[in-house]
Amino acid sequence: MDYAEEVRAWASLLRSSKTSTLKFAVARAILDEVRDAATAEGEVHISRDRLSFRLVSYYWYQVRLFRLKQAAAEIQEPNVVRKLRDLNLTSDSKWHPSRSYIQDVVDFVSEDGFREVIPRFHSGIERTIFEVRAGGAIAIAGRPRAFAAALEPLLMRSVMAGWAEQVEQYNLTPRVLAKVSFNGQRRTSVSKWAKPLREFDDACFYCRTATPERVQVDHVVPWSFLFDDAAWNLVLACDGCNNSKRDWVPASRFLTALCERNRSLTDQGAAGAFAKRVHFSMTQLPHGGAEGLKQSLDMLCEQAYLQGFSGDWSPS
Ligand SMILES: [Zn+2]
Repeated sequence: MDYAEEVRAWASLLRSSKTSTLKFAVARAILDEVRDAATAEGEVHISRDRLSFRLVSYYWYQVRLFRLKQAAAEIQEPNVVRKLRDLNLTSDSKWHPSRSYIQDVVDFVSEDGFREVIPRFHSGIERTIFEVRAGGAIAIAGRPRAFAAALEPLLMRSVMAGWAEQVEQYNLTPRVLAKVSFNGQRRTSVSKWAKPLREFDDACFYCRTATPERVQVDHVVPWSFLFDDAAWNLVLACDGCNNSKRDWVPASRFLTALCERNRSLTDQGAAGAFAKRVHFSMTQLPHGGAEGLKQSLDMLCEQAYLQGFSGDWSPS
């Protein structure tokens, strides 16, 4: 089949000037739906609620977990972003699709959020990627669907790169593309490092409770800011400290203590897999190595504050 027109449509979509990241979000939802479609052929039909749900799930991680701004000023951000940011939740940044506050945002987007997005999606695009059906559902016909399905990995990569490129303008934060692309699947667990950490210092890093019964491996600089399991940043925390710290940046005395911990861990000749990891991970920092660690930490924590993370946490 000759897909010249579909190529032009997607190319112009990715090129078209964007005042909002919503165009990327809708394109991502189309690609996700086409990839996951139950049938192999024919039209893919996406109800307005289904599309809203997809969009809310993408923005949830970017806004609630990573605190990524989606425009230069809050007033320019899509309504869904402001809605998610304004949710008054005490702790949770986990995605709970069945909770009523999520359903409220999905309903809002479904009723209101698409009024301009869907009609405007094709502005500046030569050929339509989807058609609008009764009730505001969208349909991707057989031919554009076959094209999107065949090229999904390539198109998705381009959509995410475009989204990240835009978000990068408004955020000073590591790993923007990985954060924008995050779908809730964590690939690795840090709990395997509990044993070597215990052998080195068997106490909660924060409150110094010795040999806590239940112990967690915690990220000192919030994981949701670094989006990385770098070994220099891992410590043991008791349940209480781990639950209360969440994604806060700790008080500066803990940053000093972390530098000392890493220095003495690697000074011992970097024996053992964990110490080797710590040593290597410090070379990857902006101010590389153990000597630069405090400077790197101060810089990263400053960026985390600017990104909207709360700071100066201490155990209660
Ligand atoms: Zn503790």
